[in-house]
Amino acid sequence: MAETVLVVAELADGKPKKITYEMLTAAREVADELDYEVAVLAIGNELDADGLAETFGARGADVLFVADDEGLAEYAVEPYAAILAQLIEDEEPALVLFGFTPTGRDLAPRVAARVKAGLATDITGLRVEDDDILFIRPMYSGQAIATVKIASDVKMATVRPNTWPVAQPGDGDAADVEELDVDDLPEPRTEVLEVEVSKSERPELTEASIVVSGGRGVGGPENFKIIEELADLLGAAVGTTRAVVDAGWRPYEEQVGQTGKTVSPQLYFAIGISGAIQHISGMRTSKYIVAINKDPEAPIFKIADYGIVGDLHKIVPLLIEEIKKLKE
Ligand code: FAD
Repeated sequence: MAETVLVVAELADGKPKKITYEMLTAAREVADELDYEVAVLAIGNELDADGLAETFGARGADVLFVADDEGLAEYAVEPYAAILAQLIEDEEPALVLFGFTPTGRDLAPRVAARVKAGLATDITGLRVEDDDILFIRPMYSGQAIATVKIASDVKMATVRPNTWPVAQPGDGDAADVEELDVDDLPEPRTEVLEVEVSKSERPELTEASIVVSGGRGVGGPENFKIIEELADLLGAAVGTTRAVVDAGWRPYEEQVGQTGKTVSPQLYFAIGISGAIQHISGMRTSKYIVAINKDPEAPIFKIADYGIVGDLHKIVPLLIEEIKKLKE
C-alpha cells in the first residue's frame, strides 16, 4: 500500500480520546498533500467497530483496522507492539502517528525498533517537501526547533497533544473496517491488577484548553485553594511545578515540565512560578502565557504574553472577582 498515513488511536472505554482526533487532523493534512489514504488502528476489547468507522470516516479516515480481543482490554506493550509490527509489515504505511502520551511514548519506540523505522518524537509540525515528509520537533527543552528527515521507508512520529486542532465531523462515509488476526499474540509480561482513575471534575491536564498552574510562590498546600478556584471558574486543569510536587503540596500527576507532563493549551497561567527551563520545556508551546510573579526579573516573564508583577495573593482573588462579574 505504502501510500497510507496510519493513526494509532488512543481509546478510553472504547471512545477516541482527544489526541486521536488531533492526530487525524495531522494525518489528513499530510495525506491530502500527497494524495494518500488515512487509516486508523483501534485496539481493544468489544469495540464498536461500526460506530468507530463512522466516527473516523466522518473525520477523514478511509480505513479502520480493528484488533479486538479479551486480552487487549488493557494496554500492554507486548501484544500491542506485535499487532502494529504485523500491520506495518503487511501494509507498509508511509507514516505512522502515535500520541506523545504515556502509551505512545511506550509503544512507538518498541514498534520502531522492531520494524526498523525511524521515529521522530514529540513533533509539533509536519511538512511535505519534494514528496518527502519532514518532522518539526522542539529540542533542548524547546530552545531550538529541529526539522527532521527520516531515512527509512516507514516513518514514525509521536504527536504532541494540543498541537493540531481536533478533527471535526464532515460528510465523509464510514471508513472500511478490516478486522486483524489476533490469534497468536504474545502474552504480556506484566499484569494490570488495578486501574485507579483519579476522580476530578476538571479536564485532563494534557487535554485541557486552559491550564492554571501554581508554583512554590503560592506558599503552601492550603493556599492552592485560590489556584483551584480560578481553574474551576475557567473550566481549566490545575498544573504545578516540580518544586511543589517535591514539597508534597500537590500530586505528581499535576507536574508540568521536563520530568512531568507536556501541555500546550490555548491559555496557560503561571502563578508564583519562576520559569526554570525544566518547567518551561513542558509549557512553552502554549498559545497565550499569563505570568503572575512578584519578582519582575523572574525568567517566566521572558516567555509570557501577559505579565503581572505583584503578590499573587492579592492579584488572583481580584482576577477571580472580575471573572465572576463577567460570568454574571
Ligand atoms: P521557585 O523557583 O522557587 O519559584 C517561585 C516563584 O514564585 C519565584 O519566581 C518567586 O518570585 C515567586 N513568588 C514567591 N512568592 C510570590 C508571591 N506572593 N506572589 C507572586 N510570586 C511569588 N520543574 C518543573 O516545574 N517541572 C519539571 O518537570 C522539572 N523537571 C526537572 C528535572 C531536572 C533534572 C531538574 C534538575 C529540575 C527539574 N525541575 C522541574 C525543577 C526546576 O529546575 C525548578 O526548580 C522548579 O521548576 C521551580 O519551581 P517553582 O517555579 O515553583 O519554584
